[in-house]
Formats: sequence, structure tokens, C-alpha cells
Amino acid sequence: MTHTQHASDTSLSMALGEDYPDIRDSVRRVCADFPADYWSSLDEREDYPTDFIKALTDAGFLAALIPEEYGGTGLPLRAAAVIMEEICAAGCHAAAGHAQMYIMGTVLRHGSDEQKRKYLPRIASGELRLQAFGVTEPTTGSDTTQIKTRATRSANGYVLNGQKVWTSRAEHSDLMLVLARTTPANEVAKRIDGISTFLIDIRACLGRGLEIRPIKAMVNHHATEVFFENLEIPADALVGEEGRGFRYILDGMNAERMITAAEALGSTRWFLRTATQYARDRIVFGRPIGANQGIQFPLAQAYIQSEAADMLIRRATAMFEAGLPCGEQANIARYVAAEGLWNAAEACMQTHGGFGFAREYHVERKWREARLARIAPVSTNLILANIAQHTLDLPRSY
Ligand SMILES: Cc1cc2nc3c(=O)[nH]c(=O)nc-3n(C[C@H](O)[C@H](O)[C@H](O)COP(=O)(O)OP(=O)(O)OC[C@H]3O[C@@H](n4cnc5c(N)ncnc54)[C@H](O)[C@@H]3O)c2cc1C
Repeated sequence: MTHTQHASDTSLSMALGEDYPDIRDSVRRVCADFPADYWSSLDEREDYPTDFIKALTDAGFLAALIPEEYGGTGLPLRAAAVIMEEICAAGCHAAAGHAQMYIMGTVLRHGSDEQKRKYLPRIASGELRLQAFGVTEPTTGSDTTQIKTRATRSANGYVLNGQKVWTSRAEHSDLMLVLARTTPANEVAKRIDGISTFLIDIRACLGRGLEIRPIKAMVNHHATEVFFENLEIPADALVGEEGRGFRYILDGMNAERMITAAEALGSTRWFLRTATQYARDRIVFGRPIGANQGIQFPLAQAYIQSEAADMLIRRATAMFEAGLPCGEQANIARYVAAEGLWNAAEACMQTHGGFGFAREYHVERKWREARLARIAPVSTNLILANIAQHTLDLPRSY
């Protein structure tokens, strides 16, 4: 590489700017119709953002990753990340949309042609919601390969028995992707084998062995417990090959990490914008509080972290799109974005002093929501363990 080439490459990567400016602009325009009061009202009522999801669907944003032949817009993952980043930067809540994006990926990559033809166009149009993903179980938590939900073969398909916990939006979704063991753990060579993925029609199963109970929670995530009791599901509910479901989920994890990292980055931008504005306006001891280093430095640190997260997300999505292995990069981007978000949320809360607790400022609600990024969909502890044990080759604990 010549010196000139090197210099121009460097300046190119340093001047990140806003990629996908048209998409960013359109997302901002949609989000402008859903101000903070819309979200706080939903939060108080623990209600679902029906109008917002419809607006996103009508604008084609939730079908960004669905190929055009199935009615979507077939955009790259980076574009989907930009959509999520902008939704969150506008102060809106992306969770109901992000799930649809990455759950759909399992059907797209591993579903049969018939499943794709049957579901993807209707998901793209908004006729069907695929927003529930049942992985976590009460007794096994992060140790997913130990899940106890069982799917046993029957004359017409499978019979499901078991329980999921924290399944978001199960009450507001038409379809749910469920992970269940089809071969007992002690009968498979590798613990990731013998687990299968099923696409369940929630409406058809309710009252026939499927029960959903809401969980009262700190954030408005429509979390539920899901119970399967001798639930009969058809054979064509199986996605891909029996026994390979955990591998399919691992396949989709990098995209999930990047999309949720982009959301964390967007929310970080919201906190920084809100906090810096308040720090300029609030006068105490005869000067703006933003003139104090105690207020400035945490905000500057959070900004620096947001820039790091931005670059890391771009690197990870670029590698994903190039078809390169990118698990480590996805994890790193997700970790830096989640930690940066929490620091920004804390700095914004501290900047607002007592008013941070007043609901009308929306800081306490966003602060509660921000905390989730360090726990779900993956805990930052598990990311650290992965980096330690896979990248740094330290002894395995799991
Ligand atoms: C609001 C909300 C929405 C959610 N939505 C969904 C959903 O839609 N679908 C779904 O399937 N799940 C969902 N989850 C569950 C979420 O993915 C889990 O809570 C998360 O993965 C952690 O699992 P756990 O709560 O069982 O924690 P545990 O596994 O019990 O772990 C508790 C703590 O110990 C740490 N820990 C465990 N093992 C290790 C280790 N080896 N090394 C270091 N630390 C470790 C964990 O990181 C965590 O901090 C949701 C959770 C919440 C709170």
C-alpha cells in the first residue's frame, strides 16, 4: 500500500459522518410523530406501541432485512442498525421492532421455502407480527443448552411441554419462535445438539396447552411467562433440521448483538443531547451547572464511549456483510455500546439532580430502560466470559 493510499483510507475511516442519510431522515420524520409523552403514557399503562409499530411497518422499516422477493426492502444489516439507532436517538423505543428483525432472520436463513412464502410477506406487510422469542427459562437462565422445554414427536408433529420466562411481547405477537429440546442432553455428543427451533402460531395455540402470563417489570417490555402443557404443534412448525436449532440461534446472534448495540448507541445520543441541553440551561451558584467539571467530565466520557461504539458497530456490520467471522467484533461492539449507554444514562440522571426523578423530564424512564442493555438480550458478564475464554483462551467456566 502506498503512503497516499494509506492516508486517504485513514481519512475516509476517520470521517464517519452519517451513512444512509435518507433512511436516517425518514426515520426521524416518522419518530417526530411519537414524542416523549406518547412513550411515558404507554409506560404508565404498560401498553404496547401499536401506532408506532404500524407507522414503522407502513414505512417499510421493520421489513428492512426481508428480501424484496418476500415483500421486504432487502437492505444490508448496517441499514437496519441505522434504523434502530435513529429510533432510539429520537427517544422512541425500538424493542418491539428489533425483535421482529432478528427473529425473522432465523426463518429466512433456515426455514423451508414454504415457511418463507407463507410467513415473510405477511410479516413484511404487518399482517403478522413475529415479535416473540422464547429462549430463557426460569431454572436454566444464561445456560441455554440446558433448557428443559421438551418437544417430543407425535403422530401429527410434536408435543411441547415446559416453561419460558421473560418472553417479551408474547401477548402482542401472532407468531413465536421457541427453542426446545428434541433429544435429551445426555443422549447427544455436544450439548448444543438436540435442540430445535419451532415457529408457533400463538393465536391457534392459546387455550390448547399454551398459556401466557404477564410479568410486572421495571420497564415496559411486555414481558411474560409462557407455559406449554401437552401443546400439540404441527410438524411444519419445525424450522430447519431437527436438533440444529441452537446452532441456528447462534447464527443469528451476531446480527442481534449489532442491532441492539446500535439501539444502545442511539439511546446514548438521546441522553447526551438531553443532558447537555439541561447542563447549559440550569443555573445554580450563579452559573450554568455545565460549567462544572463534575458535570462536564461524565458527559464527555459518555460521548467518547459513544464514538467508540459507533466505530465498533460499523466495523462489526461491515464484517458481517462481507461474510467474515465476526462474533468477537459483534460482542465487543455490544459491550462497549451497552456500557456507554449506562454511563450516559447515569450522567444524564446526575446532571438533572432531583428533576431527573420527575416523570415529566423522561430521564427516569429512559434511565430504567437503559439498565436493561447490560442484562438482556445478553448479559455483559456473558460477553466478558466469551472474550476471556474464546479470544484470550482462558480456562472455560461454561
Ligand atoms: C425486560 C426483559 C426482557 C427479556 N426478553 C426476553 C425475550 O424476549 N426472550 C428471552 O428468551 N429472554 C428474554 N429475557 C431474558 C434475558 O435474556 C435474560 O434475563 C438474560 O439472558 C440473563 O439470564 P438470567 O436472567 O436467567 O440470568 P442468570 O443466567 O440467572 O444470571 C444471573 C447473573 O449471573 C451472571 N452469570 C451467569 N453465568 C455466568 C458466568 N458463567 N460468568 C459470569 N457471569 C455469569 C449473569 O450474567 C447475570 O448477571 C428478557 C429479560 C428481561 C429482563
